[in-house]
Amino acid sequence: MSRATLAVILSKLALFPKPNTTLEQYPTPSEAAATILWDAHIKGLLAGKHVLDVGAGTGILGIGALILGAKVTFIEIDERLKEIIQENIKRMHEEVEFNDDYEIIIQDATKGLPPADLALTNPPFGTKERHADKAFLEAIFTATPECYSFHKTATEHFLTDWLRRQGITLIQTYPFTFNLPKTMMQHQKAAHHVAITCLHTRKDL
Ligand code: SAH
Repeated sequence: MSRATLAVILSKLALFPKPNTTLEQYPTPSEAAATILWDAHIKGLLAGKHVLDVGAGTGILGIGALILGAKVTFIEIDERLKEIIQENIKRMHEEVEFNDDYEIIIQDATKGLPPADLALTNPPFGTKERHADKAFLEAIFTATPECYSFHKTATEHFLTDWLRRQGITLIQTYPFTFNLPKTMMQHQKAAHHVAITCLHTRKDL
């Protein structure tokens, strides 16, 4: 397995059949997912660890973690996606061998999460509900000490200031450009290319 192979495999996952725009359902591009998964992998944060995929959607982040040897709990509010995640895991078994050590929990992620070693999240960016991603981080850091989370770069400083005040350390940032659908733009602009930053953060105990 290499980062490039992982990106190719993850690009074969099924996408949202009928995206719910209020829930900001938008899949992480497979290249971006593979980049942060590979980073977590080489830092020793996946193999043998319990990982949460918070707001799992079609499961790309958690499935990548499963492939790289983690036990994964998928948390998603939209019950329609349970079957899609299961189908996607089956699809990946045709590509690569890995253990089926996972659970899918249908619930609101902001209402509490099971304890784990690491969280991966591409949360709603807060286009529909202001600071929805901050509510995700709040829930995550009551359950796990460490997190990779995707955000609009425009909100990065607001979030990193807030994280610092919570005693959470910014370890690394990863810049990406996502091609977001119009429904996820604040002012329905024609331009779809949006700067996104993934934050790797840790709460020191
Ligand atoms: N993590 C996936 C999906 C990102 S889109 C990926 O990287 O491709 C954001 C996801 O969060 C959607 O699937 C949406 O249904 C889910 N979601 C939105 N609000 C939520 C909440 N309060 N609790 C749990 N999941 C939520």
